Amino acid sequence: LFLLVMPLGQAVSAWTQLQTGLGALARIQEVLVLEPERDDVPEAGGAVTTAPRVPAAGVPLLELDGVSFTYPDGTRVLDGVSLTVPAGSRVALVGPSGAGKSTVLALVEGFYPLTGGTIRWAGTDVRELPRAALRAQLGYVEQEAPVLAGTVRENLLLAAPGAADDELWAVLADVGLTGVVQRSPRGLDVPVGDEGVLLSGGERQRLAIARSLLARPALLLLDEPTASLDARNEGLLRETLSAAAADRALLVVAHRLSTVLDSDQIVVLDGGRVVARGTHDELVETSPLYRELASAQLLV
Ligand code: ATP
Repeated sequence: LFLLVMPLGQAVSAWTQLQTGLGALARIQEVLVLEPERDDVPEAGGAVTTAPRVPAAGVPLLELDGVSFTYPDGTRVLDGVSLTVPAGSRVALVGPSGAGKSTVLALVEGFYPLTGGTIRWAGTDVRELPRAALRAQLGYVEQEAPVLAGTVRENLLLAAPGAADDELWAVLADVGLTGVVQRSPRGLDVPVGDEGVLLSGGERQRLAIARSLLARPALLLLDEPTASLDARNEGLLRETLSAAAADRALLVVAHRLSTVLDSDQIVVLDGGRVVARGTHDELVETSPLYRELASAQLLV
């Protein structure tokens, strides 16, 4: 249906890009196909067929309880990780490269079975929930967010086929892409990629966030790109996160602490373990590793 737009000039193999894009497309399609399951339809016998309703703000939405994980090749990556994302709150995962941050998101998304511990969604062990029902409540934006060939409108409608134009413009405003799209006389029908708007890495990820937000997830999982963002895109990502947090919970893997300074909680991972947690101000006082990360980024 859609061809992938290969990012220009990136020293990443085309094959990896293709795998990432196809995986994301499969997941997007899965969410679309399974959207109707959001309605609560109790099955005979009382089996859970949908994810539980999102609790009130402040009540635990996502809980990792003693989660351990070893990749199938034997690499042990997480060791007894516990963290809670209350409904409506913003939680950030930070830590050195290889600490296991992206793996946490992959496990929440259900890409691998846990090797220890439990993940709960609104109080229910996710193993008791149909994976698709849970995924319908999750938005997942990877580091190398795939943008699909076609128009801006087509990219957005993948997540919400019936969305009206004003909804599309509203979400583009939330992610700071209104200007880019308005500059084209074709508006929402401007093609993305070589023939239309050339989306930078930061813009591509914000378009992917916009697509994710249109599906109205209760929790947005976002893996911030490691590649350096320019100051303008970094500022826009910060604004995007604030807009995204207005009516949902966020779990953000952050490489730039500046994008998550105002999180309700920052969890510091090192070597697969949680070594500290708190607000930015608390961590600057209590965590030598966090202080080191923050001072390397000139934040303290
Ligand atoms: P970064 O900040 O560099 O993105 P991270 O904290 O997100 O790092 P992960 O990507 O979760 O770390 O990786 C944690 C460890 O797991 C690393 O040692 C990595 O090499 C390893 N790893 C990641 N993916 C796989 C995989 N599919 N198979 C085996 N090992 C993996």
